[in-house]
Amino acid sequence: MSEVSKKFPLPLSSVMGHAQKGRQSAFRQQIADTALRPDKERIRPGLLPSKTAGHLGVLASSSKAAQKGGDLIRGAVAMAEKIASQGITDKMVLSALSTVPRHFFVAQGFSQQAYADTALPIGHQQTISRPYIVARMIEAVRRDVGSRKLSKVLEIGTGCGYQAAVLSRVADEVYSIERIKALYELARSNLRRLRIPNLRLQYGDGMLGLPQAAPFEAIVVAAAGLKIPDALFSQLSIGGYMIAPVGDEKQTLQLTKRTGERQWQSMMLEDCYFVPLRQGVV
Ligand code: SAH
Repeated sequence: MSEVSKKFPLPLSSVMGHAQKGRQSAFRQQIADTALRPDKERIRPGLLPSKTAGHLGVLASSSKAAQKGGDLIRGAVAMAEKIASQGITDKMVLSALSTVPRHFFVAQGFSQQAYADTALPIGHQQTISRPYIVARMIEAVRRDVGSRKLSKVLEIGTGCGYQAAVLSRVADEVYSIERIKALYELARSNLRRLRIPNLRLQYGDGMLGLPQAAPFEAIVVAAAGLKIPDALFSQLSIGGYMIAPVGDEKQTLQLTKRTGERQWQSMMLEDCYFVPLRQGVV
């Protein structure tokens, strides 16, 4: 067994106080995060109400850019405001959400729902993640960085490329890995229009991480495994954070900080529902 698995994961009780336990249940999610559950979940039709940036000063400048782009971009501003009202406070994250055109990343048939806070299908039995969970995960790995950008970030599970685009606005350098060739190509084509110079896509098995670009200040895993692959722990820089959904039917977001050469500390955040992390490439 590796050092990682000896020390990890810590029992929940050792890292969470009573207050956090309460918060965990308060955050219990009713909406699928990346995976759709057609029997239980309904995709809400239409755009969120469109309004100019209101009480959130942070969104004011992005709303100007949004006005240029028409209704759907105003949808992004409204979406970011709604996510702020759900407890996300990181201004850089909210600003990124309000400026990335999510409608570039959903299939044409779903463009009316591009700014609804819901996961949507992207083909190959995969989904674009729910915007709230994208914000929650990125805010969590940015918890110690204050108002600066993260340095180097790794995303596992590019899918259609939306979260990678959001990450590219809160980090200096982003690497994102996808195991399904057709989705890697889809993300490439979706992202081409945005011309993002600090984002690199990789076709491969993200369970192996990306050793040639490691270490990463943050790792965001967008698919759920029963355990987090050891390779990812060792590719995190000391002081850096990794967030990953863990579990099968019942999943929880696990936030891990690398505290030393051979030490990691973890805490469990809210319940979530992601598509499975799978080995190998197709
Ligand atoms: N990040 C996406 C969400 C994609 S859903 C967004 O922006 O909305 C999760 C993705 O993880 C799927 O595309 C799936 O193919 C991919 N995935 C699952 N296991 C993987 C692995 N081992 N390596 C890389 N990608 C993986």
